[in-house]
Parts: sequence; structure tokens; C-alpha cells
Amino acid sequence: QAKQRGRNQYQLFTRTLDGVPGRHVTLRNALRIAMEQQRLQLFYQPQVDGEGRITGLEALIRWSHPEFGWVSPSEFIPLAEETGQIIDLGRWVMRRACYDAKRLWRSGLKPGRVAVNLSPLEFHRMDFLSSVCQTLDQTHLHAECLELEITEGMLLDDQERVARTLGALAARGVTTAIDDFGKGYSSFDYLKSLPIDKIKIDRGFVAQCLDSERDIAVCRSVITLAQELGLEALAEGVETPHQCAALKDLGCTTFQGYLFSRPVPFRELAGLLRRPHLAPQQEVPMDRQDL
Ligand code: C2E
Ligand code: MG
Ligand code: MG
Ligand code: MG
Repeated sequence: QAKQRGRNQYQLFTRTLDGVPGRHVTLRNALRIAMEQQRLQLFYQPQVDGEGRITGLEALIRWSHPEFGWVSPSEFIPLAEETGQIIDLGRWVMRRACYDAKRLWRSGLKPGRVAVNLSPLEFHRMDFLSSVCQTLDQTHLHAECLELEITEGMLLDDQERVARTLGALAARGVTTAIDDFGKGYSSFDYLKSLPIDKIKIDRGFVAQCLDSERDIAVCRSVITLAQELGLEALAEGVETPHQCAALKDLGCTTFQGYLFSRPVPFRELAGLLRRPHLAPQQEVPMDRQDL
């Protein structure tokens, strides 16, 4: 039965045949408790320019469960979307990320923009804009220091509303990035007409950018497209110096990946931000933070 379950399909049955609650049910309840008991954390992964200087930080949620250990956001974010918990979760992430970013700026460190991942449910809510603005007001973070990561699918729904929302964010000074670009229903039309600042080339293309002519072609076209439209191109999941060099040759200007740094807890950021640039890590050690 488990085999039949596709990657993105949710388990339909709440209990397995022997009556034991399935992992999804258990996780959903555990997530509610973790939220109540504030057991979720934000880690941050640096984004760097061609010289390895930090230009921004992506906030990535982490959950360590006493019994299950580190649960991957790829597993629990979809569950939280199903139950609607993502709304509270998303608010917490936004608040925490802005608050943390403000703390860094206040201590004289320059973290660049802090990027927050959005779920479609959050983005399409009526109170989304006011909630973002409220968080900026309450944390005193400059709007220019916040970046929102959306995915291609989110731009397709109600085009007029999406345009209005993005327009309002842009007017406020908040920047937007398209995450996992190339993986979804890429349309040149929205890129041309919407106020988007940055394209994050999906890790899947980056991983193959040395081996497969087709993946190189995709990276090259996305980077060229970004240049032509005046958008920033960032390569996600850069793991080796060779990948980085190849992408740089294609004109890519910003990079994010284990080569420069894994996602780290807040307390480790000061150390990273004090360095003039992040040197590529030759070894990519596997550790439990990589969930
Ligand atoms: P994403 O936004 O595309 O985030 C990038 C993912 O790639 C992160 O996985 C990061 O740890 C991983 N990564 C970074 N560099 C490398 C690398 O060099 N190699 C490899 N193999 N992986 C790398 P993570 O943290 O497990 O997050 C998975 C996804 O969960 C995210 O993908 C995002 O879609 C979602 N997510 C994470 N945090 C949040 C959140 O606060 N809110 C929402 N709505 N979604 C989140
Ligand atoms: Mg992201
Ligand atoms: Mg991504
Ligand atoms: Mg991704």
C-alpha cells in the first residue's frame, strides 16, 4: 500500500488496517502540540554572490520531534496545508523571520534580505497583505529586507488578484522570488507582466547542470531570460565548485547550497555574517540538520 502512495498524494485512510493511527495522523497531532509548545525552529541558509558574500538568508522551518527525530518540512508542510494549520504556522514563520532579521541588523550584521517561503493558502488569503504589513510594522524590519518566495502554481489562480497582491507588495518595497523555477507551469507571460524580482532555478536542474545537455540548456535559458527581463537569477542546491563555476559561466549571479553553507540555527548566523565571504566547503558532510 505504501508503494502505491505517490510522492505528493496524501493518505486517504486515517488508520491502518490494524487500527493503529497512520503516521500522518500522528504527525498532524504532534504538529499541533509542537506549535503550542513552541518546539518549531527556524534555520537560515545563506545566499551568496559570485564572490561568496552573503546577499540574503532563506528561512527554513525545522521540527525536532522527541520520538520521530527531525521531521522534514517536505513531509509536514503538506500536512499542515491539508489541515489549515499552515495559516498559524506561516504567521509564526513570518514573524520570527522578520524579528530575527531585525535583530541581526540591530547588531550591525548585514544579513541582506530574509526570504520566507509561502504556501498557496497563505498567499491567497484576504488578509495576507495586511498580515505582512502588520508584521513589518511590529518588528520594525524595513520592507526592503523581506523577500517572499512563491511558486509558479500560485501565480496561475486568480490572475487579477495575484497581480494586485504582487503590485501592493512591490509598492510596499517587499521583493518576491519564484521558488523552484522550471519545475511547475512556467509561463513567460506572468514573468513579463508581474512585478517579480528574482528567479530561483530549481535544484533539480542545478544538480544535473554538468552532466546533462538538456539541464544545461534549461539553466542557460532561465539565466538568459532573467537577464533580459532584469531579474536576479539564483541557483538553488549548489553542491560542488564545478556546478558553481558552470552556472557562473552561464551568467548566474547568486547561489545557495551546501557548497557555501547548510541551513544553520540563528545562533550560528553571526559567525557566518562576520566573515567577509563564505568559502566553498570542499566536503559536504551529511548531518541531521539536512532534513
Ligand atoms: P525550498 O524552499 O525549495 O528550500 C530549499 C530546500 O533545499 C531546503 O530543504 C534546503 O535545506 C535544501 N537545500 C539547500 N541547499 C541544498 C543543497 O545543496 N543540496 C540539497 N540536496 N538540498 C539543499 P528543506 O529545508 O528540507 O525544505 C524543503 C521545502 O519545504 C522547501 O523547499 C519549502 O518548499 C518547504 N518549506 C521549508 N520551510 C518552510 C516554511 O517556513 N514555510 C513553507 N510554506 N514552506 C517551507
Ligand atoms: Mg524556498
Ligand atoms: Mg526552492
Ligand atoms: Mg524546493
